[in-house]
Amino acid sequence: MSPLLPGSTLGVLGGGQLARLLSLEARRMDYRVVVLDPDPACPAASVADACIAGRFDDASTLRDLARRADVVTLDTEHVPLSSLELLEREVPVRPGSAVLRVTQDRLAQRGFLRDAGLPQTAFAPVSDLASLEAALVVVGPDAVLKSRRQGYDGRGQVRIHPGDDLGAAWSRIGTDAVLEAFVPFRAELSVIVGRDASDRVETFPVVENVHEGHVLVTSVVPAKIPPEVERRAVRMAEAIARALGVVGVCGVELFLARDGALLVNEVAARTHNTGHYTCDATDVSQFEQQLRAICGLPLAAPRLLSPAVLVNLFGDLWEHGTPRWDRLLSIPGARLHLYGKREARPGRKMGHVVRLGDDAEPAALVSALRTMLGGSEPPGRTPADPAASARSNPTLNLEKGPS
Ligand code: AMP
Repeated sequence: MSPLLPGSTLGVLGGGQLARLLSLEARRMDYRVVVLDPDPACPAASVADACIAGRFDDASTLRDLARRADVVTLDTEHVPLSSLELLEREVPVRPGSAVLRVTQDRLAQRGFLRDAGLPQTAFAPVSDLASLEAALVVVGPDAVLKSRRQGYDGRGQVRIHPGDDLGAAWSRIGTDAVLEAFVPFRAELSVIVGRDASDRVETFPVVENVHEGHVLVTSVVPAKIPPEVERRAVRMAEAIARALGVVGVCGVELFLARDGALLVNEVAARTHNTGHYTCDATDVSQFEQQLRAICGLPLAAPRLLSPAVLVNLFGDLWEHGTPRWDRLLSIPGARLHLYGKREARPGRKMGHVVRLGDDAEPAALVSALRTMLGGSEPPGRTPADPAASARSNPTLNLEKGPS
């Protein structure tokens, strides 16, 4: 395929925040963007050139997208394979159905990683209560049960401790699942890797992440890990992108286990929340890299311009009305990204903040932001003094991970 130059049209399946951030980058470079989403008011709709409101499984809607796009990419992996196959007959789809067949299904993904010789936690398939009991014998009693499909942001996951009521755990999942041994990790890391059609790969600096209740809260770059661990993480991400044959960008999540082993947690064949810092802290963003890969342009070799801490903003912050963005913007080096979602629900990702600089302590920043944005201030605290607020509220400890 000859390169798709500015002026070409990207089609995107899904109009969520990833499509929105891609659209902003694409339009900067004078590409056109058409998104397909069931919701005409989806986050990307206000920044893309056009939004086709329709279902991912409707053939005529898919053909409409194919007609209007020079290449199609994804905002979400939750797209029926048959829809990707239909599109592939009409237009290049990057990544395509062969990649999504693996990444959409946690069990297929685990099998792929095993066959590629990549280290991961013990796992076993589960399809009913009896197989859950059998799987616990294989992986051990300290485990996480995850639905095979459609899980994200902690949905479709149940933590299982020794002695837990398995019937209750199974009824919370109730669909084909994978049981994984719980990894008592020292840190969670992620690597964003881009791969082009000629098998060139480029990675972004390794990120250290903190989740609460299985949901990403903060990402810190550069990760505070020895250079040798960083090199291993990069090599694993590159090996995964190549083995998958992805054209585009992947987010590879890793556990740094207490014994120093690196284990692959999950691979997403798309841009990734933990890579959002690249819009502010590297010389090329993950979204531009995605565009370059899918359009057949040279991949960039990303360079970190500044250390950074990313904090996700959830709908809970809207509990008392519109958050006080004016206070947030008083923090030096703070960059606000909002996804244009109309409705703020608890737990819903509404945006993120990136704080540039090497003096931001993630736990303190989270705490300061919650205090500053979440409505009423405790008496005596100066809202615009995040450092003071931060010092008094350390709630997360990056060094420890969950125990
Ligand atoms: P996932 O959706 O699989 O990325 O899981 C979300 C988060 O849940 C991870 O980033 C971890 O914080 C936690 N988690 C998931 N699986 C495991 C596991 N096997 N061991 C320890 N923590 C896990």
